Amino acid sequence: MQWQTPLIYVKGVGPQRAEWLKKELQLETVKDLLLYFPFRYNDRTLFYTISELEQRDEFVQTRGKITGLRIHGTGAKKRLHAELTDSTGSMELIWFKGIKWMEQRLKIGTSWIVFGKPNRFKNQLSMAHPELTIADELKAFQGEHFDPVYSSTESLKTKGLDSNGIKRLIRQVLQGMDATWPDPFPAAICQRLQCVSRYQALLQIHFPKHQQDLEAARLRLKAEELLALQLRVLRIKTKAKFLKPAYPMPAIGHLFSQFYNTLGFELTTAQKRAIKEIHNDLKLDTPMNRLLQGDVGSGKTIVAVMAAIIAHANSYQTCIMVPTEILAQQHFNSISALLSPLQIHTDILTGSTPTKTRQALFKKLSEGQIHVLVGTHALIEDGIPFLKLGLVIIDEQHRFGVAQRAKLTERSGTHLPHVLVMTATPIPRTLAMTVYGDLDTTLLDELPSGRKPIVTKHAKESQRLAVWGFLRSQIEMGHQIYVVFPLIAESETLDYQNLQQGYDALVQEFPPPLFQISIVHGKLTNEQKALEMNRFVNGETQIMVATTVIEVGVNVPNASVMVIESAERFGLAQLHQLRGRVGRGNTQSYCILMTGLKLSQEARYRMQALVQSQNGFEISELDLKLRGPGNLEGTEQSGLLQLRLTQLAEDTMLIADIRAFAMEIMQSQPPLFNTHMEQLLQDYAAHKNDYSRIA
Ligand code: ADP
Ligand code: MG
Repeated sequence: MQWQTPLIYVKGVGPQRAEWLKKELQLETVKDLLLYFPFRYNDRTLFYTISELEQRDEFVQTRGKITGLRIHGTGAKKRLHAELTDSTGSMELIWFKGIKWMEQRLKIGTSWIVFGKPNRFKNQLSMAHPELTIADELKAFQGEHFDPVYSSTESLKTKGLDSNGIKRLIRQVLQGMDATWPDPFPAAICQRLQCVSRYQALLQIHFPKHQQDLEAARLRLKAEELLALQLRVLRIKTKAKFLKPAYPMPAIGHLFSQFYNTLGFELTTAQKRAIKEIHNDLKLDTPMNRLLQGDVGSGKTIVAVMAAIIAHANSYQTCIMVPTEILAQQHFNSISALLSPLQIHTDILTGSTPTKTRQALFKKLSEGQIHVLVGTHALIEDGIPFLKLGLVIIDEQHRFGVAQRAKLTERSGTHLPHVLVMTATPIPRTLAMTVYGDLDTTLLDELPSGRKPIVTKHAKESQRLAVWGFLRSQIEMGHQIYVVFPLIAESETLDYQNLQQGYDALVQEFPPPLFQISIVHGKLTNEQKALEMNRFVNGETQIMVATTVIEVGVNVPNASVMVIESAERFGLAQLHQLRGRVGRGNTQSYCILMTGLKLSQEARYRMQALVQSQNGFEISELDLKLRGPGNLEGTEQSGLLQLRLTQLAEDTMLIADIRAFAMEIMQSQPPLFNTHMEQLLQDYAAHKNDYSRIA
């Protein structure tokens, strides 16, 4: 039997069951079945006495003799009660279905091992539909201390494929194999990674005898899935480099130093290092694929602009992509302000650019009159007529997955652009090594000097008046304020109501003409949004009421307070990102997390974490632990994250180890274990979203 053998060829499966397993659990091959791991194990060595069951709420095992048997009720209400007794007491076993059959099996005086979940009702201990084993058959467990439990579905259960049915199937498949079963890890790898063989691991994960068995099995199977992932990611990385050349950009140019000298502030050491690393990549004729990670406010935009200046010095165009129209507008404003004194021409293209304007813009692009184009992600579409596109900068990368990145490498033409990806918030180390593992990484791990930590407070509804008083004093000092409301698709209408109510309340509290309030949300047209944004940016309004459209990238240094309404409804990374909208100048800034009175444990933890930490790297790690990688933006569509056992938040060491090992394998010439690794990649190959094909 092979790893990829369709289940239909497994003895006892047949076409119908194969169809069900595919439909219900997406299990199609022997591999799928063997990698369908138990979700828990019942400890079959552990027996409770009946009196001890009073204290148990989970599935437990006990044993005793049948001392009574009675049928209650009639028709649909008919049920079978059996009394089970040991030396410490007795309990009721109850059946609502299959009564006749049970009645014939259970004889007064016979001994049974009973497995189930105890209920207590009016001082009476009972178990409904327990699993029964004749006590004499105990030997049949043959020392398998842990009994695997598999999740199944209602419809599979009716077809004999409940947990036990699946267990039987897996046992049978494993019995058809032995230690000679093909293993993509030769002995040398097993030794190096200190892990057992694949066959051994599968045996032990399904039927462990001891806790140690289970741990050894998990280690091996994690190593296997991680090595496959790393090889794939590293291959994308190498192949992307050699697919097509990029234009080398050796010159720095005189505009670079002109810009540098008129900046008005000193670059941080981290920014200088980042620019150096980027320029080192740009010099080469292999495409750069670099991830620039920096906390909010670490000054990524300047780095991007300086990269664009280098491209310009080598007479190439730069395209800067951002996720939203508002952000495109903002970036365009700030970037063109930085570049126009250098006679570097910037323009903007978004989904709402009118056709006429677009045509004129295309003409100028193709003639090389536009040097830097800012726009929304739609820009990756081929067919935008750059004269010589040399550099693509993707800002706020969380919304820009592996898929879209891969698409960039599909661009037509003889050359690929250099690509610089910038994150909105730091990425946990493990994600950087996996989901973003195809990119080289630069860290901006330093904030510009003079930044004061943002004072963060958690306030409840009852403190609202005090909060408003505080806002008033900040406005009187000449500062501006953000008030952000959550907007979540499922309850959109309700959310807009909250936003509107919040806005009305603020207008009452801060009435015109003394106070002016902007409001921005998704229901406004792009012109309206831009207008409101600009009023706030220009200081005409003191308060900006908004949904999370302002989450990313907006830069108003005069804003000193960020109020986040219903803060419990935001994720940690998102809260941190929002908070980063203030504290961008030299004034003391504040973030106020408004929540209801009742908070879940987890929400309280999130608020606390934010109050205590200003460090985006720390916060992103916490976020990963709290929410799991599936919920982090950008990971779900990555298609690379098919990890069954590895926990990104916990297996950091192992991930780093395996990544180093994968690099070692790839870098030796010829690559180590070539055929074995091909096998491994095939074993973990290609589901629909596998972008290694593209590379
Ligand atoms: P982010 O990394 O969040 O995108 P920005 O690039 O928007 O951060 O920069 C935040 C603010 O810090 C901007 O107003 C920018 O002009 C300013 N800034 C950037 N680098 C420095 C520096 N080295 N010293 C002082 N201010 C800086
Ligand atoms: Mg930014």
